[in-house]
Amino acid sequence: MGVASHRARVGALVAALTAGVLVLGSGAWALGAAVFPHEDAASARSGIAVRPSPTASPAPVAVAVQTPSPTPTPTFDKAANSIDDPRSIWVVVNKSRALNPVDYVPPDLVQPPVPNINGQPVRQIVSGPLATMFAAAKSEAGLSLTLQSGYRSYQTQVSVYDQDVAANGQAYADTDTARPGHSEHQTGLSVDISAASGECTLNACFGQTAEGRWLAANAWRFGFLLRYPSDKVPVTGFTYEPWHFRYIGLPLATELHDTGVTTLEEYFGVPGGETYPG
Ligand SMILES: [Zn+2]
Repeated sequence: MGVASHRARVGALVAALTAGVLVLGSGAWALGAAVFPHEDAASARSGIAVRPSPTASPAPVAVAVQTPSPTPTPTFDKAANSIDDPRSIWVVVNKSRALNPVDYVPPDLVQPPVPNINGQPVRQIVSGPLATMFAAAKSEAGLSLTLQSGYRSYQTQVSVYDQDVAANGQAYADTDTARPGHSEHQTGLSVDISAASGECTLNACFGQTAEGRWLAANAWRFGFLLRYPSDKVPVTGFTYEPWHFRYIGLPLATELHDTGVTTLEEYFGVPGGETYPG
């Protein structure tokens, strides 16, 4: 290959990869199109546009490793994954947005290889990053984490919610327990994390523990979002939960971190709020 054609090919590859890095990354974290076929037309187009030809070099494998950029990527594709499909790692579930179908069950629940208090599974795509995050908390900060809860079924949420209503009344229950079909835990993408010491488990004071602080600062590096920040209750509709983390994948977690946007509702411009419609 001559120098000129080599340059041209490298230039084309760089351009394609620059444009496609986030799409490719999202695809990798989203289990790929085969498992998650409901990408919309926009993402399908961009997926095709950036997909290297079979004769291109295997560079996309290396690119998918997502070297973090120090500046926000202006070309982040907000349509790369669905926010409506319950199988999508970007699905937005809140009081205004029920799961559809309301009794959705994730297809690929597994037991993550971490200490697991209630033995609840998570989706396969969450398992690895969760274990990596727990290992990093240990190696970087000497902190031991445990999984408090993961996937909860529609039926489980029915009993959790009904018990809360019986004990505290519906108005109160609606502030701290999602109605069935409105819980992120039903997606298999959300986890409640506690300190192995048990300090402040499922309590707002967890945010002040070393474990809670480390998670708040570092969860994004593993593709997780602190889903219910203290200053966004009117947006998310739920009280501050420093223990509740939602897996959204590394590209979106990085985008939110870099742009300073802290809720999915604000980033995607979709309704949330503290009341249920109807
Ligand atoms: Zn939770």
